[in-house]
Amino acid sequence: MGNPSVWAGREHGEVDYYLTQFLTGHGCFTSYLYRMGKVGDLSCVFGDSDLDDARHTFFLCDRWVPERESLEQEIEKITPENIVEIMLSLRDCWDRVATFAKVILLLEGKAHCYVFPTPGCKRWDTCAPEAVLEAAGGILTDIFGKKYSYSNDTDYLNNDGVLAALDPKIHKRCLDILNLTNKT
Ligand SMILES: [Zn+2]
Repeated sequence: MGNPSVWAGREHGEVDYYLTQFLTGHGCFTSYLYRMGKVGDLSCVFGDSDLDDARHTFFLCDRWVPERESLEQEIEKITPENIVEIMLSLRDCWDRVATFAKVILLLEGKAHCYVFPTPGCKRWDTCAPEAVLEAAGGILTDIFGKKYSYSNDTDYLNNDGVLAALDPKIHKRCLDILNLTNKT
């Protein structure tokens, strides 16, 4: 997906493990697991497609309609063809698409925890994912384990980064590791 020379010339945006899955489609999706002999069929676990791959998960899967719609309301309709251009157009777009991709991977159990240790992510990037994640039993805090406040008198920047996990035990473990690292 995308043109490598466009990527090389970008001025913002880190491409990490999760984003690489999103952008290349070589992630831990069912069809990939199938090739590795780990599961018995290629279909989406949510039952809406015979083939579960990156394209299905991010652009088509019925399960993620609300998350996709809230992203598209802010940006525009996302497709595999325009996603790179959108992300490169503005720093804010990059962050929103990146958050969308990462939270979906978390919720699908394809990633265990999501760490965004630097400021740059804003409240409106995390409020919808936080609600979905918490409804699924997960947790989203700053990297010190504190929850963000959504009241009007607070800064809209998530200055202390984001740590999100579907399993509170994994959240706690990441928190311990991060705070050990911060002390040294
Ligand atoms: Zn699906």
